[in-house]
Amino acid sequence: MSKPKILIQFDPDNQASTFDSIVAIDSGVDQLLVHGGVMEDDVQGLVHGAIFTRGMEDLKSTALFFGGSNVAVTETLVAKAKSSFFGPMQVSLMADPNGSNTTAAAAVLSAMNHINFANKEVTVLAGTGPVGMRIAHLIAGPATTGSATINVCSRKLAKAKEVCRQIRITVPDAQLIPVETSSPQQAADSVCNAHAVFAAGAAGAELLPQGWENNKNLQVAIDVNGVPPAGIAGIHVMDKAEKHGNIHCYGAIGVGGLKMKIHKRCIQMLFESNRQTLEVEEIFAIGQSI
Ligand code: NAP
Repeated sequence: MSKPKILIQFDPDNQASTFDSIVAIDSGVDQLLVHGGVMEDDVQGLVHGAIFTRGMEDLKSTALFFGGSNVAVTETLVAKAKSSFFGPMQVSLMADPNGSNTTAAAAVLSAMNHINFANKEVTVLAGTGPVGMRIAHLIAGPATTGSATINVCSRKLAKAKEVCRQIRITVPDAQLIPVETSSPQQAADSVCNAHAVFAAGAAGAELLPQGWENNKNLQVAIDVNGVPPAGIAGIHVMDKAEKHGNIHCYGAIGVGGLKMKIHKRCIQMLFESNRQTLEVEEIFAIGQSI
């Protein structure tokens, strides 16, 4: 008889994400063990507890999920977990800090219904947050042709430059341009030649004022902020491939349905073997298969 499916939730934030817990339960996990405030030094002991308690054939019934609001901190926990595995003694893991990987995958896949990114110009407003940096990463990488030029925007140029540097660590050929968008005019300028624009700003922050609909190149506009006002003025939260002029538009809920499907499918796949590592590229590939 197969053992109950146990998911161990690692969250570096003091209060572990209730969103991540609920999605885990809704994905069919039998038991969820939630650890908030997890620090790097805590990880090895928690991982050893996961790999030494069940026989080899049952390791696939235990898996790890890494959340958190700071992508870099979560990445250190994931790296520590991987280094705590040895030989066949491992369990599957998924990383999705702030929903960044699943949301970015859903946003980019939604855009790809309408645009081929090859040699296109793409603007990612608020490209410095967990979601925005993953959107830029996916469009910069080979999964989406790797030949787009991406304007990575921030209210502070130094933050945009730092995200470009981080993405180039794993995608060395990424064509990234850091852009300061500290005013509505700068944001409007950042999209004037773009073929696609993504807005990944904090909840309730308008990033792009009306007027973007007149840009001749623009084919797709996607806003993942679900809290009014919209990140892109004029996009409705429910928009899902709605056309504003010639531009296909998506709002947060328009993207969110696919995001939830990807998230749940990933959790279910964790229990198919004990050797899966689901990070940004793997999660995107799972999204492509849905
Ligand atoms: P975040 O970290 O809260 O913010 C992203 C960026 O927004 C920040 O790096 C910051 O960039 C900018 N920002 C912060 N406050 C701002 C303000 N007052 N005005 C203008 N810009 C501001 O967001 P996230 O975790 O990456 O998530 C991005 C968005 O996706 C959020 O709105 C979140 O609620 C939403 N979300 C949607 C879904 C979905 O399914 N639709 C799923 C998950 C998350 P700079 O400081 O560099 O300018």
